[in-house]
Amino acid sequence: MSEISDNINNIRKLKSEAAKRAGRDDCTVKLMAVTKTRTADEVNEAINSGINDIGENKVQELIEKYDYVNPVNWHFIGHLQTNKVKYIIDKVCMIHSVDRINLAEEIDKRAKKSNRIMNILIEINLGREETKSGIYKEELYNFIDDILKGTDNIIIRGIMCIPPRFDDKECSRTYFKEANKIFNRLKKSFPNDERIKIDTLSMGMSNDFEVAIEEGSTIIRVGSSIFGKRNYR
Ligand SMILES: *Cc1c(COP(=O)(O)O)cnc(C)c1O
Repeated sequence: MSEISDNINNIRKLKSEAAKRAGRDDCTVKLMAVTKTRTADEVNEAINSGINDIGENKVQELIEKYDYVNPVNWHFIGHLQTNKVKYIIDKVCMIHSVDRINLAEEIDKRAKKSNRIMNILIEINLGREETKSGIYKEELYNFIDDILKGTDNIIIRGIMCIPPRFDDKECSRTYFKEANKIFNRLKKSFPNDERIKIDTLSMGMSNDFEVAIEEGSTIIRVGSSIFGKRNYR
């Protein structure tokens, strides 16, 4: 057993225990492996250990690795420049970081050209941090309105958030609780719409995924706990 596969098994165990504590079925929470700075070989190792969902936050890295990685669901999770949407539109199953109408419109335009429908999440900046992307929560319903009016080939599937970073993972809990509240309200607001099917709450990373699961996450994005500390060159 390699280290990557040991780490994945360990996270699976913690994930399932966290789900149990919250009275949730473990299979309602997906484990995404975040592969930034990792080689295609490392990504394939994770896939061989049963990972079905891969997250990348840089377009350049995604397209460099894409052809060398075994078939898998790719997610785009980072800040996305509009002029780069065209490079990933055929490669990813979901874009987690939609936070501006011109980005949604570009995704729509490229999706149409590729004859496909793109799943998106709206990124919310819950900590109102200036350095982070994402809309403010009070902008959410207007933003959704704009997306539904201005696009055709997009399905809104939920929200994504990255709370402020704390050493104590318990500090993230308030933010996760709030995200879950917004998520549940959205589900109620749009019970029956083809363009907005709310089923994804993307939250929780290496340092806080257990708390995120306890508070309702449906997909956790885990990088360094699977692959080790990142080395940015
Ligand atoms: C890097 C990254 C992660 C994973 O972070 P780790 O702390 O390494 O688990 C999750 N989400 C996003 C958006 C990221 O950029």
